[in-house]
Amino acid sequence: MKQIAIIGGGPAAMMFATHIDTAKYKVTLFEKNKSLGRKFLVAGDGGLNLTFNCPPEELASRYYPPRFMDSAIKAFSNEDLITFLNELGIDTFVGSSNRVFASRDRKPVEVLGKIVDYIRSRGVEIQFGKKFTGLTENGVLIFEDGTEVMPEICVFALGGASYKVTGSDGAWKEAFEKRGIRVNKFRAANCAFSVDWQKDFIAGHEGKPLKNIALNFGSMTAKGELVITKFGLEGNAIYALSREIQDALSGGENVTVKLDLKPTMTNERILEKYESSRYKKATDILQKDLNLNRTAIALLKQFTNKEIFINPESLAKAIKSIPVKIQKAGDIDEAISTLGGIDLDEVDENFGLKKMPDTYAIGEMLDWFAPTGGFLLQGCFSMGFTLAKYLNRTL
Ligand SMILES: Cc1cc2nc3c(=O)[nH]c(=O)nc-3n(C[C@H](O)[C@H](O)[C@H](O)COP(=O)(O)OP(=O)(O)OC[C@H]3O[C@@H](n4cnc5c(N)ncnc54)[C@H](O)[C@@H]3O)c2cc1C
Repeated sequence: MKQIAIIGGGPAAMMFATHIDTAKYKVTLFEKNKSLGRKFLVAGDGGLNLTFNCPPEELASRYYPPRFMDSAIKAFSNEDLITFLNELGIDTFVGSSNRVFASRDRKPVEVLGKIVDYIRSRGVEIQFGKKFTGLTENGVLIFEDGTEVMPEICVFALGGASYKVTGSDGAWKEAFEKRGIRVNKFRAANCAFSVDWQKDFIAGHEGKPLKNIALNFGSMTAKGELVITKFGLEGNAIYALSREIQDALSGGENVTVKLDLKPTMTNERILEKYESSRYKKATDILQKDLNLNRTAIALLKQFTNKEIFINPESLAKAIKSIPVKIQKAGDIDEAISTLGGIDLDEVDENFGLKKMPDTYAIGEMLDWFAPTGGFLLQGCFSMGFTLAKYLNRTL
């Protein structure tokens, strides 16, 4: 029987382990922690958002670079994931904004437990406390405890480089670089960005949300919400633009995002509402006719001047396009995901490393991007499934 070593035990590895044919392969999973899926559990802290409810083509279009995830999503779509989870006894539901969650009566640790039990029931051996430190030219895996393993096939699923406490520390980078693999610098993605707020603004509005807004940067628009923090801005709208913002910041560009407080209304409609209002004061009109909350109005005041504020036409324009200057990205360790990792030119269409035969890399350790909303987990699961299906076919 051919031997497969899976190194790393996050969602990508787990989905591979649930689908690799254990009648054909002897499979061992090596994980440095004492348990699998620690980042998966962290992801479940605010509700376990497993995937996104939309047609598969639309789902695939949310990944960067374009087309990268197409075949993996085709092989294992959001519906396939839900069916798989349902069969394991994990119910799901479609929550707000089409995000798909594990049912509320299932704690993330129970969801994880069901997946791990299934992996074990298939005869996959799991070894904990096995920290991978290097890979020789002949494909020998070296672990920190001094042990060495030489499987016929290696599947790496070591994750990105945020939330190091979960085990995903990106420390594997050097081992791959030594083997001549290009590994791009890790950068925070789906992360906070800093803004130089005026003192009185942040004192009154820290922690306040801005809902149903849109954020524009370059040719990109992201709808969703933002949260005002002492550091700057967080929330799915800025996370979705994090790759473009990071690229611009790394290129030394000045980054100004344009905040649209009323994405469902045109300038003309805002002006109409303004001019037909029975209120006199601008603040009353904004609050009562345009349903802007105190924080939105305070933001308008911070980023416009008095002349704009008293002129309905320019105020309508400002409501649709508040310029907010971004200074820098938040700490990589606090980011939901990371940019960087193994350059996609290093892998073939089955995630096989071109320079290392019978060696594959899946999940966040490859350099791709997806926004929050369940796309990250779905991408990792789809890659794990796709590789298992490919290896099952090749033997
Ligand atoms: C706060 C937070 C919230 C999130 N929320 C969501 C969400 O709601 N929905 C969503 O889709 N995604 C979410 N994500 C992202 C998602 O959790 C990740 O994209 C996903 O876990 C990546 O899976 P992976 O299998 O590639 O790697 P990981 O989950 O990072 O797993 C990698 C594994 O490899 C192990 N490992 C690393 N180095 C070594 C080594 N040298 N030797 C042996 N083992 C090693 C690690 O210990 C770990 O177990 C969230 C992430 C964070 C941080």
